[in-house]
Amino acid sequence: MANSGPEALRLCLEHDFAAVLLDVRMPGMDGFETAQLIRGRPRSRHTPILFLTAYRSDEHLFRGYDLGAVDFLFKPILPEILQSKVSVFVELTRNAELLRQQAARLAKAEKQMRHLLEAAPDAMVITNPSGEMLLVNSRADELFGYPTSDLDGRRFDLLVPEWRCPELPSDLEDDDTGISVESRLTGRRRDGSTFPADVTTSLLCTNGTVLVTSAIRDMTQQVRAQRQLEQLNAQLENIVAARTEELTRSNDALRQFAWAASHDLQEPLRMIIIYSQWLMRNAGPKLAGNECQFLDVVQGNAVRMERLLNALRQYLLVNDTAVISPEPVDCHAVVSLVVENLKGIIDETSAHIEIQPLPTLPSVEVLMVQVFQNLLGNAIKYRSDRPPQVVISARHNNREWIFSVQDNGIGIEPRYLEYIFGVFKRIDGNSGAGMGLAICRAAVERLGGRIWAESEPGRGSTLRFALPDGAGS
Ligand code: ADP
Repeated sequence: MANSGPEALRLCLEHDFAAVLLDVRMPGMDGFETAQLIRGRPRSRHTPILFLTAYRSDEHLFRGYDLGAVDFLFKPILPEILQSKVSVFVELTRNAELLRQQAARLAKAEKQMRHLLEAAPDAMVITNPSGEMLLVNSRADELFGYPTSDLDGRRFDLLVPEWRCPELPSDLEDDDTGISVESRLTGRRRDGSTFPADVTTSLLCTNGTVLVTSAIRDMTQQVRAQRQLEQLNAQLENIVAARTEELTRSNDALRQFAWAASHDLQEPLRMIIIYSQWLMRNAGPKLAGNECQFLDVVQGNAVRMERLLNALRQYLLVNDTAVISPEPVDCHAVVSLVVENLKGIIDETSAHIEIQPLPTLPSVEVLMVQVFQNLLGNAIKYRSDRPPQVVISARHNNREWIFSVQDNGIGIEPRYLEYIFGVFKRIDGNSGAGMGLAICRAAVERLGGRIWAESEPGRGSTLRFALPDGAGS
């Protein structure tokens, strides 16, 4: 409420009004002059002005409208009409304010969105579901070679021709982030050149509108690296294959040499044994005491060497590289045969052999005989003062048969548990060739299994080996 034009102007400087009601006739500054000044100021430039007047002259009306009046109310004024007209302006002002606030919020959200897009490590494109680009970050401009903002409003398949919007889920609600799909597609730059691109597309539903966000990553380097890696792998495989072939060849040559040597040594050795026996028999009585002993040493060593050569040949046989074809082997029958083979030493030592139920499994009989014969032989050979008690058993575990040969012999110290499986490895003081367990290991490994020893010195040993049960093959 202002009582004069100048007062009205002052109030308009300090406040925002929905509308101004102005008397045309006023002392000093009249309504038209006041309206002109109100309109002249930036803050009140768009404030609607309603003139109240008692004169219905055209000149008044023209002048008033010219000065930006939106309406004239003629006296006598009806309060209801005045009130309803003013209400319309108040309502309009409120709505305009709401719109302004909304626009400001939108502008802020868009700014934040742009900021987020710019901060993303990848080229980012936001489209609507039909593929029209709404927001594009500068990385996308750079990646595809377009000037800034040139892509706004264009279609995304201009950049990634194979791109398709994922199917929109029917239950996508506001603020829902929908499915995210990643695929290797081809990106096309402005100059027409192409590159491999990983495109991750996700859906975002906001205020009832679906936005489709796509992150595009140039995979040129990775694809190149992958190709190089594949080439290197292929080269490596070739090298390994060549080396393996080379090794196999030299292994075969070595095996043939060892075989030939052991074979060729056999004959001269037999001659030494035969002639030293002949000497002992015929010239023995004529020899002095220690000469007899020397001859004995010669004979003993020759016999031992013969045993070593035999064991070596067995080992070479077990290690033969020929492909083996497994057939069902009845392990009970194998062990019975082995017990028969070792009957002499079993009777001699009064050994008691307990054979628990043993399975039939796909294997190679001669190799199984070798393994059981060496293990049972050792169980008796390395006995303590007590008569040997040996238990042979098997249990099924996790697609394997685990066989055990358990004895009550002298046992093996923990430090030798692995050592004894080496070629020519035996524990000091024992008279064997040190090949039995090496043969066992070679045989078991050829059958796709593993072998190990468990023992507590003084309480006997258990030699175990595991073989695949063949069910999986
Ligand atoms: P060899 O019996 O011919 O010496 P092996 O390779 O069969 O050769 O065994 C290696 C060594 O392991 C043997 O010298 C022996 O000391 C030890 N050994 C093997 N089996 C047993 C066992 N059941 N009990 C105690 N020691 C064993």
